[in-house]
Amino acid sequence: MKSENPIINQILASYKRLWSINHATSLMGWDFETYMPRKGTEERGIADSQLRLLYKELLLNKDFVDLVESGKKQQGLTDTDKGIIRVLDRSITRQIKIPKELTEAESLERIRGNMVWRQAREKSDFELYEPHLVKMVEIKKQIAEKIGYKKHPYDALLDTFEEDLTVADLDKVFGVLTPRIQKILKKLLDSGSPFCRKSKLGELKYDISKVDELNREILTLLQYDMERFRMDVSTHPFTQPMSLNDIRITTRYEGADFKRSISSTIHEAGHALYDLQCDQSLSVTPVEGASSLALHESQSRFWENIVGRSKPFVQLISPLLKKKVSATDQATDEELYFYFNTVKPDYIRVDADEVTYNLHIAVRYEIEKKIIGNKLTVSEIPEFWNDRMDQLLGVRPNNDSQGVLQDTHWSSGLFGYFPTYTLGNLISAIIASKMRAELGDYDKTIRNGDFKPIREWLGLKIHRHGSVYAPKVLLKNTFNESYNPEYFVTYIENKYLG
Ligand code: MG
Repeated sequence: MKSENPIINQILASYKRLWSINHATSLMGWDFETYMPRKGTEERGIADSQLRLLYKELLLNKDFVDLVESGKKQQGLTDTDKGIIRVLDRSITRQIKIPKELTEAESLERIRGNMVWRQAREKSDFELYEPHLVKMVEIKKQIAEKIGYKKHPYDALLDTFEEDLTVADLDKVFGVLTPRIQKILKKLLDSGSPFCRKSKLGELKYDISKVDELNREILTLLQYDMERFRMDVSTHPFTQPMSLNDIRITTRYEGADFKRSISSTIHEAGHALYDLQCDQSLSVTPVEGASSLALHESQSRFWENIVGRSKPFVQLISPLLKKKVSATDQATDEELYFYFNTVKPDYIRVDADEVTYNLHIAVRYEIEKKIIGNKLTVSEIPEFWNDRMDQLLGVRPNNDSQGVLQDTHWSSGLFGYFPTYTLGNLISAIIASKMRAELGDYDKTIRNGDFKPIREWLGLKIHRHGSVYAPKVLLKNTFNESYNPEYFVTYIENKYLG
């Protein structure tokens, strides 16, 4: 892009080098998860960490920092110009505030801790991993102090993943969300709702190449442009944008319970659409791509759950399903619908349904807040975890693999990340409600396989802006909303109890 302001243009010209390093490490990361021969790990690790160091050097280069500083003082900047300065200033400030020793300690601990966490999870032995978690928590607390905060040290960590997110925001969210979802869940279980019945369809084995064809037909149905997008396979599905015109997703095939593969595909494709519909003028600038993790997740959840698990969508893909998963050919659309929407309080977050999912996040949020705020010790976590699972979901993990050891996040240093999943769910429901008010009942367009109005609306309201606006500002400007849980609770009530 070209700005009216010469300083901004100078910043953008220098930024191209930073962008190119990101481009390279993104491609390397994608390759690592998909096609790289296993024994290439060591050398890839060297190349990756060297490129990251180079990135940091270029970002903190005095001339570049000075340019951004003088950018901050410019008058008459456009929203896009201001967004560019905001995004760069945020990352420079963080990098400056966190001393090199802490960054190094964290990356070292990430590798060691993650390795031990893997073994501990396999053996279901928390004590094996405990010293590493103690160390990581200590590092995170120090980082929080260096970054600084107004009220709660956890605020500093939350802001890393979601700009301006605070404990105060999240206490408000979970204060409403948790009790109301618990109430809905109890009603569903007590009434013997059809949503809570186990579906035989979940046990069906499938032919992986056939479900792969099915996923690709669904992507065609959703009108993905395969000249700017591709799908491969990995153990944990993810989306990796290389640029606005090269977005990659992965999916997974376990050979049974086909909805998992289909839902993963639609979820990641939802993430991809954010970048695919970003305004092309923002390409190769600091503001290309999503405004925040929560907004990104709102897109994947909107497509996965609100569209992908809706009745009209299940009806739409039912003929395709029957062609590719032959054992489903006797299933009615209703059976398929209940299969895609089965509700079951269980131990593992990544397998959780729409109703119970946020209760899993509530447990993690409480623990992170207490740990960083010195209200809980690491050795107390497993017991606290199990008690809260029991109280919120009515299931008590039998061992640490089913409990505290299930997620990779803490061993990777990701404290403050989990809440963005819940915020994504909340925003997806805000979007659905606003879309319905403006586009009318979009069920019919879904039933007819016409996704253009939905895609265009999302592009107009959210995607095209990239990260020009901070997430809270975007929500306010576009929807006159904040991280309001009411829409999500209402959506769940209408769908499951309506
Ligand atoms: Mg996601």
